Amino acid sequence: MNQHANANGGTEPLLELRDVTRSFAVKSGLFGPTLQLQAVRGVNLSVHRGDVLALVGESGCGKTTLARMLMGVLPPTEGEILYRGQSISKSPLAERSRHIQAVFQDPYSSLNPRKTIGSIVSLPLRVHRQGGAASIREETLRMMDMVGLPARFFDSYPNQLSGGQRQRVAIARALILKPEIVICDEPTSALDVSVQSQILNLLTDLRRELNLTYVLISHNLGVIEHMATEVAVMYLGRIVEKAPGTALFSQPRHPYTDALLSSVITPDPDLGIPTIDLGVSFPNALSPPSGCAFHPRCARALDRCQRIAPPVTHDSKGTVECHLLDVAP
Ligand code: SF4
Repeated sequence: MNQHANANGGTEPLLELRDVTRSFAVKSGLFGPTLQLQAVRGVNLSVHRGDVLALVGESGCGKTTLARMLMGVLPPTEGEILYRGQSISKSPLAERSRHIQAVFQDPYSSLNPRKTIGSIVSLPLRVHRQGGAASIREETLRMMDMVGLPARFFDSYPNQLSGGQRQRVAIARALILKPEIVICDEPTSALDVSVQSQILNLLTDLRRELNLTYVLISHNLGVIEHMATEVAVMYLGRIVEKAPGTALFSQPRHPYTDALLSSVITPDPDLGIPTIDLGVSFPNALSPPSGCAFHPRCARALDRCQRIAPPVTHDSKGTVECHLLDVAP
């Protein structure tokens, strides 16, 4: 089933997923059989230059697996991922890391505590042999300044910095090779609320100054609404709706997107996505429901939803995978 959506008027995507599936072998019990868990199922997706594409969904929906495949650290079981039309699984890791970098959730564990800030930020330049010692130092200080880290931190260690400052170090390290795409995996969720908005504003400014493209994974819909130009909603390994952020938040079209947004009408957006109470709990990914995987929880399910997988509808508003889009008004 084709899920391609190109909201950018046909421009060539930077990243493209074609029918990507990722399975994991899972042992069911001590003596039970080995089962295949499909964390991502036949996903088609395009990321265009300048996009901030947010992946959103409940825990277990497959967004982290999808992000790890985009980083190239996890190969798809089926399908392919292309960067500028070339399969990323065929490009060497060093080459890939020049173009695609990541900022992770936890700046405490992602920085080597025994290395100085200057050494951490400059490591990619040294690995890629980008210039001599003097020019590497100069570039490192320039990058530190760009992310708001004073030069005096060059010889400091991570434990001498605050959480927000450490995340700035992680961002500087990710950007020093001038990548085109940055995968931001919950970039603020380990930080104090008071510094979260500073880091989000920094990421927004850097995107504009450096012409970056982000893939954003966040459980915080407030963050997504603030930053995302495009939102892809995932349910049990499928992208069930993709649309520009403003349209998706104001007019969700898939019943799951609607439920997701309704569930977080809360004065505290940092509460994130709770377990959605739809009367039926999130299904077991080892035995996904037949037809539309959302049908046991869907208040608008039709007879056919239990038996037949819904078609993917592409139109000017985005992409939706639901039988309701098939029903004449
Ligand atoms: Fe609900 Fe049917 Fe649409 Fe699935 S296909 S979301 S069950 S209406």
